[in-house]
Amino acid sequence: MDRVDRPQDIKYWYGGIDTAYRYTVGIAGERFFRELRDTGKILASRCHRCNEAYVPPRLYCVKCFSELKDYEEVPDDGWYIHTYSTARNQEGQRLQEPLIWVVAKHRHVVGGLVHRLTRASPVDVTIGMRIRPLPKEKERRIGSILDLEGFVPSQ
Ligand SMILES: [Zn+2]
Repeated sequence: MDRVDRPQDIKYWYGGIDTAYRYTVGIAGERFFRELRDTGKILASRCHRCNEAYVPPRLYCVKCFSELKDYEEVPDDGWYIHTYSTARNQEGQRLQEPLIWVVAKHRHVVGGLVHRLTRASPVDVTIGMRIRPLPKEKERRIGSILDLEGFVPSQ
């Protein structure tokens, strides 16, 4: 094996590690995914003391540490692209078909979601562009973030 003197020269390597584990999404996460599966809506938890809503929902407010027990739907209107990325694979080579990944934020909610932007051409994508979530058809939802098809430009 060659010696690497500069950490920035290491980007990735292929391999596998045999591990077995279960990851729980937690109480607020479970509520989020159940709601997404059952209604196609995105849930936030709200701190009434700080008047902040969080998505994905949190159990505790990051400002005042209050336990958050109230959940609310995040309106489809108000989402926008915070940042995005397209087009290259992990080796840095261009993809044949560009994928558009966005950090989607909502103007009334703290946090955001990472997901695909569909029904859009990469040349038309801009930071701040208004978008809306697109849930899959109900019979295809399984309780995963992939119950969203992604986000699409809003008209
Ligand atoms: Zn708070």
